[in-house]
Amino acid sequence: MTDIKRPGDAFDPTAPEAKPRAAGASGAAPTLPVLPPETVTRFSHVDTWVFDLDNTLYPAGSDLWPKIDARITHFLAQLFGLDGLSSRALQKYYYQRYGTTLRGLMEEHEISSDEFLAFVHDIDRSSLLPNHSLAKAITELPGRKLILTNGSREHALRTAEKLGIHEMFEDIFDIVAADLVPKPAAETYQRFFDRHAVEPARAAMFEDISHNLVVPHARGMVTTLVVPKLGQDDPREPWEIAGADAAHVEFVTNDLEGFLAGLIDRG
Ligand SMILES: [Mg+2]
Repeated sequence: MTDIKRPGDAFDPTAPEAKPRAAGASGAAPTLPVLPPETVTRFSHVDTWVFDLDNTLYPAGSDLWPKIDARITHFLAQLFGLDGLSSRALQKYYYQRYGTTLRGLMEEHEISSDEFLAFVHDIDRSSLLPNHSLAKAITELPGRKLILTNGSREHALRTAEKLGIHEMFEDIFDIVAADLVPKPAAETYQRFFDRHAVEPARAAMFEDISHNLVVPHARGMVTTLVVPKLGQDDPREPWEIAGADAAHVEFVTNDLEGFLAGLIDRG
């Protein structure tokens, strides 16, 4: 991928925990990211690693989410006979009010969730390249790894396959497993904990939307907000981007693979 962190890259000042530090003299071979010891210690009890999918396991600057977004607009335009602007406005209203457009459609209309999920996730993923450093970092994390997504299982599987990380995950908890109730609903996290026997006090959550970390933090998970790299395109809505400084966000990183690699005990 083009976004792999290299020594000398500019760093987001809001993400000090993710900042790799060169251990040797300048000009030395690239070193592994070094996190503050207190950051590493904060994760030392974690045996279950939970990841959001979209804009977390692949960067927000990827064209994947805009493609899904456009398919959702297209779905609404067809369903209601709306022009593009009107269906876009309705989509964003549902998304912000209900957490997903699908939830809005379920609440206010009777539509088939299967049909919706298959349609909106039917996208070209060819721009997504294997992320070997992320695969290595996730593999080396001690314990179980799970995906918790407001998208569909099929979408998560296909996307994880393209990234080359699908084999590292024990399972995917998707919007259907959540009974179509999206994050940030507390009942969805509880359903996830129950389904996969996750002890939240021994788990960590990685997410790109701050308010999806409110419940994980309240339940005792270690929370990390994944933000775009400096200068990277970010097609998300302002409300999705806000909240990096919230109390329920313990760590912020613009370099997920570097952050995870920094947590791994190399002693
Ligand atoms: Mg996301």
